[in-house]
Amino acid sequence: MFAGIEAGGTKWVCAVGSGPEEIQAVERFPTTTPEEAVERAIAFLRPFAGELRAIGVGSFGPVDLDPASATYGQITTTPKPGWRYTKLVGPLREAFGLPVGFDTDVNAAALGEHRWGAAQGLETFVYFTVGTGIGGGAMVNGRLLHGMLHPEMGHMMLPRDPARDPFEGVCPFHRGCLEGLACGPAMERRWGARAETLGADHAAWPLEAHYLALGVLNSVSILSPQRVILGGGVMQQEHLFPMIRAEVRSLLADYLQVPEILVEIDRYIVPPALKDRAGVLGAIALAEAALIAK
Ligand code: ADP
Ligand code: ZN
Repeated sequence: MFAGIEAGGTKWVCAVGSGPEEIQAVERFPTTTPEEAVERAIAFLRPFAGELRAIGVGSFGPVDLDPASATYGQITTTPKPGWRYTKLVGPLREAFGLPVGFDTDVNAAALGEHRWGAAQGLETFVYFTVGTGIGGGAMVNGRLLHGMLHPEMGHMMLPRDPARDPFEGVCPFHRGCLEGLACGPAMERRWGARAETLGADHAAWPLEAHYLALGVLNSVSILSPQRVILGGGVMQQEHLFPMIRAEVRSLLADYLQVPEILVEIDRYIVPPALKDRAGVLGAIALAEAALIAK
């Protein structure tokens, strides 16, 4: 059995099990202070200590994923108050003496979708989450992409037409990056109402689809993914999918003559098959991978 911890900026989800059909226990709690969150996660796992073989953690970032670094296993320079340099892997290793797999929340979700969901059998694909922020994870040639640090796809810069959209964006670092223009809070500030309250015919949605399509298109241009998975609270608006697909096609302007985009785009830009459990199941998949790597 494995433990998975999805350490989110708004909530943590912890689970014990071995896959989507074999979850023994789940606990969710709001993200308060680092001490409290780590303690609650450990207390939840404690009764299962004898049965667990490894632990996986998918965390909001930025995180240090370099095992050779002094701050490995920590959340590093987050703007979230009180959370800078929060140790995650260390306290879990100390508490349980088990291998701990560690990655970003979006890479974890990507791994979960690869293991059990919409990316099974693929080698290269991208996973975006559109919620309080926007994150992007990727598997490239069968391995989760880390590189220098880890991808920060939410902060790719996008063109904005001020005549169509005078709102400059909410990212405290870049204003009008993808996250700044298209995350849930950006929609709320631009339209003066939470995204989930806007009707399907509201002008917010074509604009949202436009920005998300630009983000998807950039990821397609850079990584040549075999599929793009879009999850997170905002993507619960299912009518966004056909709009994004149409916009990606139109932005590509017939440049890529591939069946994935010309014929089967409904299977190319898709929601996560594991739905809102992609993150925590991905953390379980990280645990499994950590055990194999040991
Ligand atoms: P988190 O980012 O904390 O993981 P979510 O993915 O639910 O959580 O993102 C929260 C953001 O998504 C909020 O800005 C909220 O307004 C928006 N949101 C949540 N649910 C919906 C929905 N059904 N439709 C549109 N927007 C939503
Ligand atoms: Zn940004």
